[in-house]
Amino acid sequence: MKKITIAIDGHSSCGKSTMAKDLAREIGYIYIDSGAMYRCCTLFCLQHGLIRMDGSVDEEALEPLMPQIRIEFRLNPATGRPDTYLNGENVERDIRTMEVSSHVSPVAAIPFVRTAMVALQQAMGRDGGIVMDGRDIGTAVFPNAELKIFVTASAQVRAQRRYDELKAKGEHVDFDEILYNLQERDRIDSTRAMNPLRKADDALVLDNSNLTIEQQKAWLLEQFRLKTAD
Ligand code: C5P
Repeated sequence: MKKITIAIDGHSSCGKSTMAKDLAREIGYIYIDSGAMYRCCTLFCLQHGLIRMDGSVDEEALEPLMPQIRIEFRLNPATGRPDTYLNGENVERDIRTMEVSSHVSPVAAIPFVRTAMVALQQAMGRDGGIVMDGRDIGTAVFPNAELKIFVTASAQVRAQRRYDELKAKGEHVDFDEILYNLQERDRIDSTRAMNPLRKADDALVLDNSNLTIEQQKAWLLEQFRLKTAD
């Protein structure tokens, strides 16, 4: 059977990566978390002091350093899921902190950062058989993807899920800070000039506010089966 390309886009913290990861494992496809790549660029900026006190990014200093950002995904045999590596170091945990979350959208809005990441994402998905989640996968990275999903949920529900997730990891978190962060990221992601977050015209919308993970999984698998049936 021909392997297709699956693009899963949507708002921040609506469970895109969980559903994309589960689907990829179920159907034997490669999973790529494009958000992890922008998070790596942000961690790199923090490590190199390229984020100013006011939150702005020193783009002039970052641009010549871009070739020094090497991102890879390696399968973690213990979890069966890919971990993110930045310049040979496993940064899976470091890129999920509130510090990175609060700086990632301005970094991801920089055109030369997007150009580099989109090229990498397209190279990773060249042969199909891929599930990629992000903000612009169905619109800019793989506009010809056979299956496109746009996921959303109410901001309150998304903040609560994120809060529970970070709490479980032992992070000290504040619900209002999380809610503000995800609304702010959605605002910046949707209004940036290059490849803003928006639903592709041919994407199916999934509002998972009132769905369990199992229900969502079944819905997604059904969409995959419908696409690959003929
Ligand atoms: O998916 P995740 O929440 O980890 O993404 C982190 C951030 O990376 C998003 O808020 C957005 O600013 C950026 N991003 C993007 N384009 C993508 C994926 C993520 O701009 N395809």
